[in-house]
Amino acid sequence: MLDWSDTSSASKAAAFIPLPQAPADATGLGTIDRAGGRVSVDEKRMINCRADVNQLLPLKYKWAWEKYLAGCNNHWMPTEVSMQADIALWKSRDGLTEDERRAIKRNLGFFAASESLVANNIVLAIYRHLTNPECRQYLLRQAFEEAVHTHTFQYIVESLGLDEGELFNMYREVPSITEKAAWALRHTQHLDDPDFKTGTPENDQSFMRDLVAFYVIFEGMWFYTGFAQILSLGRRNKMVGIAEQYQYILRDESIHLNFGIDVINQIKIENPHLWTKAFQEEIRDMIRTAAKLEAAYGRDTMPRGFLGLNAALCETYMHFIANRRCAQIGLAPVFNETENPFPWMSEAMDLKKEKNFFETRVIEYQNGGALNWE
Ligand code: FE
Ligand code: MN
Repeated sequence: MLDWSDTSSASKAAAFIPLPQAPADATGLGTIDRAGGRVSVDEKRMINCRADVNQLLPLKYKWAWEKYLAGCNNHWMPTEVSMQADIALWKSRDGLTEDERRAIKRNLGFFAASESLVANNIVLAIYRHLTNPECRQYLLRQAFEEAVHTHTFQYIVESLGLDEGELFNMYREVPSITEKAAWALRHTQHLDDPDFKTGTPENDQSFMRDLVAFYVIFEGMWFYTGFAQILSLGRRNKMVGIAEQYQYILRDESIHLNFGIDVINQIKIENPHLWTKAFQEEIRDMIRTAAKLEAAYGRDTMPRGFLGLNAALCETYMHFIANRRCAQIGLAPVFNETENPFPWMSEAMDLKKEKNFFETRVIEYQNGGALNWE
């Protein structure tokens, strides 16, 4: 059993010992400090930490460890989902309208490359600079989940016989998708520069911008309209296999998002000097711009719209989500207050309900003694 009693100081900024000038070894791959003392929780920090990053225990950030456990509990593989109904519908002459086909393909094209972009950002930019072993434990789990998500799009392409070149190149060839990817990449490019180091207010803010761009915006805003598009079709009994896979992805992504929010808020607690009024305005601007990019993508993906879904509704949904994300990281809303046009999305996110659904599925698809959960 783990003892959480030593984590009570986790959110009290006052309990932190003063920050040393330079972190000893942010990577964990430097020379072993043979003479150093044992790690105490008060030495642990989200960024610029001097304490040994190779020692998971004692834990300081219980929320990070809990998200790691929750991610493991949600394990799934795309190949466990039957694609028979989707294949039949996709190959049928009139089961789907041209508008629906266009939206589905662009949606898949957006996600196919985005999952890799998110994975590369975690592994090559965020991991290096997040100097806390329990957060890194979660990042390792998240990185694998992103691999499962990328696998999902490979599996869908293979099942439906889609043009893989067309789908995986959409993020380069379809301007409304390229605009989003290029915007997010601007915030990560300098972080994977080998010479980039956190430790100055400017660079620490750069790191925060990357967290916002990928966790709050990419995974927390753009993915959500993508989920709404496919789950809306699923509700009408169309592409139900993909819709089921998206439900599992959504369940994973809601933990990714919440992890990112906790990381940002904890960095704010530990480094209040970074969260200036000007920086807050900059982040609100990022969120506003991201919502505009999403609205353009919505118009391009759904020029006419179809039953229950169109570009205008998706834009309203994006405003609703953007305001929620602002509140989650302690910012004033960026749009006028609006109702959620897709109230059924919260049902799709109901973890308890999904868990039952998931357990049923695991028993149904269990094969050859690979799983034995009973
Ligand atoms: Fe993902
Ligand atoms: Mn993710």
